[in-house]
Amino acid sequence: EKVPKLNKELIDSHLQNQGPNVSVFYKEEGGFVATSGNSCVMSGPEGDFLDCANNVAGVGHSHPKVVEAGVKELQNIQTNGRFLHPIRERYVKKLLATLPPSLDVLYLVNSGSEANDLALRMAKQYASMKSCRNPDDVICLDAAYHGHTQSIVDISPYKWRQCTDGKEYHKSHVHICSVPDSYRGPYTGEGPEVGRAYAQEVSDIVDAVGGVGAFIHESIMGCGGQIVMPEGYLPAAYEKVRSAGGLCIADEVQTGFGRSGSSFWAFEKYGVVPDIVSMGKPMGNGYPIAGVAVRREVAEAFASSGIEYFNTFGGNSVACAIGEAVLDAIEEDGLQENALIVGDYLKDRMTSLKSLTPMVGDVRGFGLFLGIEFIQPPALGSNEPIPHPDLTKFVVDYLKHNRIITSRDGPDGNVLKIKPPLTFTKENADTLINCIESAIKNAPL
Ligand code: PMP
Repeated sequence: EKVPKLNKELIDSHLQNQGPNVSVFYKEEGGFVATSGNSCVMSGPEGDFLDCANNVAGVGHSHPKVVEAGVKELQNIQTNGRFLHPIRERYVKKLLATLPPSLDVLYLVNSGSEANDLALRMAKQYASMKSCRNPDDVICLDAAYHGHTQSIVDISPYKWRQCTDGKEYHKSHVHICSVPDSYRGPYTGEGPEVGRAYAQEVSDIVDAVGGVGAFIHESIMGCGGQIVMPEGYLPAAYEKVRSAGGLCIADEVQTGFGRSGSSFWAFEKYGVVPDIVSMGKPMGNGYPIAGVAVRREVAEAFASSGIEYFNTFGGNSVACAIGEAVLDAIEEDGLQENALIVGDYLKDRMTSLKSLTPMVGDVRGFGLFLGIEFIQPPALGSNEPIPHPDLTKFVVDYLKHNRIITSRDGPDGNVLKIKPPLTFTKENADTLINCIESAIKNAPL
């Protein structure tokens, strides 16, 4: 199909002026131009599309309450974070109230990468004061993505493994554990022994090096392919890391703000309370605002270095007004509950696709953070699932031709990711599943 003229002009300009490796959705097809949105719909010159990929517009595109709050405050003032503002104080209190009581201090920043960078800085400072043997060392998960700054790319194997000489890039202070993938990782199946086996890897590293400053994980791995942490994994890993003076960081940039349905933060599902929680993406429904919540003891250790913390845009009143409107919208529109109800419905319908074809290998996630792993038709006499990125790409492209936006990810590019705005309805879920069904039936593979 021909690339529309406007797309061609925009993508040429983008690649010419903004760097040849800047990420663009549907790059091979000429990109996708989005100029307006409403709830779960994204629109542009190609028409209206059902957005099943956008966990940034958490409360729905162009939510009227969020827009109004932003416009109003923009008309008042937008200035740097050194000036006090009542909206900020009100917002921070509201946001802290969503977290376990031990996480009672919040730093406001502008992006998920910045949040994780600050989280690491604080963990290192705290761990060095607690006589941790290797405060600069970090344990992260393979295929994890935590952001784009230098310190964070180092702990994002998802990114640096894209380097042709990926091995060279592996920094000595970074220790990598297997993706705790109970479907296709080194330990598979259900039950606490799987989680224990993966946690043993964390334990072995801590024993081998004698303690690390931080263990960082997403609560469901996004770029890693919608990987849910196995039962018992996080509690065991946390205990071990802490026993050697380290801190545990939950990266909730993708999974926070009600998306997981049963709780506001996805880590709550696993019965752990992190020392540090980083957050971003849906926090401002698209407006740049992110944050780091920590225990007071960690904040005090950070402050005790004597270095003042200042962030020009972090916590500006426009961002906070928008952030507050997002929290209000989640509550008033019942969006966490909607994520639970529609998420369960959608996951059931996704699971039913398994009876259509053995190429739907696994369906996982919770709330409105779900994934389908596509695999090759099983070879005779083998139960080993082999990834099927071609089919996954076919499905993503087929959906796009039918006006549905999705994406695929995971180390093998064979996981269809579903993470729509939390306003997603059962009717939207039916539209999506019917189209995936049709894609599978039409797949030339
Ligand atoms: N953490 C996770 C889990 C992410 O998915 C991302 C972005 N995809 C980030 C951090 C980085 O956030 P940002 O792009 O806002 O810097």
